[in-house]
Amino acid sequence: MVMMSRLRAILQASPCKSLWRGIQIPRSMPVRPCSLYTCTYKTRNRALHPLWESMDLVPGGERQSPINIRWRDSVYDPDLKPLTISYDPTTCLHIWNNGYSFLVEFEDSTDKSVIEGGPLEHNYRLKQFHFHWGAIDAWGSEHTVDSKCYPAELGKHHKELQKLVDILPSIKHKDTLVEFGSFDPSCLMPTCPDYWTYSGSLTTPPLSESVTWIIKKQPVEVDHDQLEQFRTLLFTSEGEKEQRMVDNFRPLQPLMNRTVRSSFRHDYVLNIQTNKQNPNHPPAK
Ligand SMILES: [Zn+2]
Repeated sequence: MVMMSRLRAILQASPCKSLWRGIQIPRSMPVRPCSLYTCTYKTRNRALHPLWESMDLVPGGERQSPINIRWRDSVYDPDLKPLTISYDPTTCLHIWNNGYSFLVEFEDSTDKSVIEGGPLEHNYRLKQFHFHWGAIDAWGSEHTVDSKCYPAELGKHHKELQKLVDILPSIKHKDTLVEFGSFDPSCLMPTCPDYWTYSGSLTTPPLSESVTWIIKKQPVEVDHDQLEQFRTLLFTSEGEKEQRMVDNFRPLQPLMNRTVRSSFRHDYVLNIQTNKQNPNHPPAK
């Protein structure tokens, strides 16, 4: 198994119609597996962006995000059907630096780019997607899965993602926006249909507890150099002292009284022994 310089794709759908966010999470790159302690320790020393620093002093609600998903504790729900996602690349409008991430926004007045199925009762229109990333490849995701970093393998160069990367220099500073037509975000979606879902919140103010989180099991691999380009963006406006846009993710929140459901059957033992070869079932090529 292979987890690596990759983005874990996360769909975030809220009951508010037409708010759907596809969120990408860069994950992990260490050469060997590391313990929860190691990962926590590494990220604990990062400087929190003021956006999250002040918010985390406020007592949270009961369904805040992000969380650590524990594979073993997630509950298979056979009623969770596959998600259906359709995109119309021409609905892509622009890309802007909002001071803590960059957002690609879509025209959402009609049902041209929609997600439906899975745990969702209605269909949702794609409104925007954005990313969270770390200062280095060892962390960066908001949600974590089993609190672990995984062994590295080379990521892939995404041609469609490169379109995005190429335009980043023009939105280097906070509050800059440029037109960005015809982007197909489906390259950022893993092909495997399996996902986890739980009830959570926005991870930026106002932290509204109105989000159905859908986290794909399969992360998307990306090229280290493409991720490195994300880190050339700035939290700051032109003229201000430059602050690199890195570690723009909210810290983990307690699960409280919630259950994470999975759309797939799983066996925890298999999950932790993925590197062992079974002679009857050689690894897929
Ligand atoms: Zn986000």
